[in-house]
Amino acid sequence: MGNTPSGLSRRGFMGSVGAGGLAVGASLMGHSTGASAAPMIDVSTVTTPVSSVQALPGTYYLSNVRLETGFVEEKRPWLDRPVITRTRTELKTLRIANGAVAEIMDAKSAIPPGAAVFDAQGQLLLPTFRDMHTHLDKTFYGGPWEATLPTQHGRADRVAQEQELLPKLLAVAEERTAAMIRLMHSQGTTVCRSHCNVDPVSKLGNLEHLKKSLERYKDSLESTIIIFPQHGLLASDSVGLMREALKSGGVSFVGGVDPTSFDHAMEKSVDTTVQLATDFNVGIDIHIHEPRATAMPAFSRFMDHVEKNKQLQGKVTFSHAYALAELSKEELKDFAARMKALDITLASAVPLGKGAMPLREMHEAGVRVICGTDSVMDWWSSFGNADILQKAQEIARLQYPSTEYDISRTLGFATGFVTPLNDKGEQAWPKAGDEASFNLLPASCSAEAVARLPVRNAVFHKGRLVHGAVPKAA
Ligand SMILES: [Zn+2]
Repeated sequence: MGNTPSGLSRRGFMGSVGAGGLAVGASLMGHSTGASAAPMIDVSTVTTPVSSVQALPGTYYLSNVRLETGFVEEKRPWLDRPVITRTRTELKTLRIANGAVAEIMDAKSAIPPGAAVFDAQGQLLLPTFRDMHTHLDKTFYGGPWEATLPTQHGRADRVAQEQELLPKLLAVAEERTAAMIRLMHSQGTTVCRSHCNVDPVSKLGNLEHLKKSLERYKDSLESTIIIFPQHGLLASDSVGLMREALKSGGVSFVGGVDPTSFDHAMEKSVDTTVQLATDFNVGIDIHIHEPRATAMPAFSRFMDHVEKNKQLQGKVTFSHAYALAELSKEELKDFAARMKALDITLASAVPLGKGAMPLREMHEAGVRVICGTDSVMDWWSSFGNADILQKAQEIARLQYPSTEYDISRTLGFATGFVTPLNDKGEQAWPKAGDEASFNLLPASCSAEAVARLPVRNAVFHKGRLVHGAVPKAA
């Protein structure tokens, strides 16, 4: 299931993700003019269409690529000093070889006769997007629509539902993951970090399926796995399973969730997580959704461990960390300074409708901030479309003025802070030698891309086209 050979897909249609969407529109129009009734669309298998993309040669030229070269400052009669009004761009030709940008050439430079040349048609080049907190093992996406159920006993009801669902989903797990990866690709993402359930119900089943799916996509998606004891590390007695999962290999992080509210034993939960990570020499990425009263002591305990154990520095991530939205400016400053000193990363799915997460403050304080889309339509959240550029837009709307300069800066939340221009407006990306993982979008600059979320027309991973199309140059 999940593959619709006809290409009929509500997601492809609604999301207008390039050629697939257009093809659906055209075929519907065609049928509606005929005498017979239009065929029914199967709305129970909503997914991103399987599309075969062009195989590009190992070496090729990409012409008419729009690169940002600087900000334009201008005077306005009612303003006291010049302000940045727009972004300057130039068309260039890139030579791609061995998965990297080998050379950036003037648009007018001669291309050797006989070389393979593809035409970017003046579209903007942006670095590949990075979805650094997602759950590729759990989704309703690719199957019938189901909204989240109301809960009557808080999160316990979600876990109960999950216990019922997980065994049923194992049979379709690989296809569902593939559908989510196609969705991610269509949104311009080729790098991700995925959590993966390890729990007494699915045991290592989800992990085995996720590894197989990621293996299938290893040439088009750079991924790392976090094993995630969703039902509580201690509460569901999952320590043994976590050890088994770590022994099975291919795991980069030990996950965890709310040591106080899930495990009801903060110190033991934190210490056990740290022990697992150090025993297997992997990182930690822990979900903490708790309020400050319990979250802050847990963060402190993790940080105490990292301080003592240099092996963990640069390898610990706090995911969600909603409590940071409750801190005063002074408290946040101290917390950020400690995170920075210990090289601890903050991961956020940019929650809406709560106190805005201080992502800008954390980034500006020098903390490594990564963003993720978290759920894609599962039993924890009805929403999610794997669009990390949209997350950057949400941060822009929540935390930044809507000026050219400020919006352009928020692109970094989607790209791991690889941006065409640096904060001073100097050209920073791409440079010769950079990995050829990027997007072509119909936009004039980064700020426009963040504000308007244009379709990702061509998505490249290490020189390989993984979604969309790029025409051969005439
Ligand atoms: Zn999560």
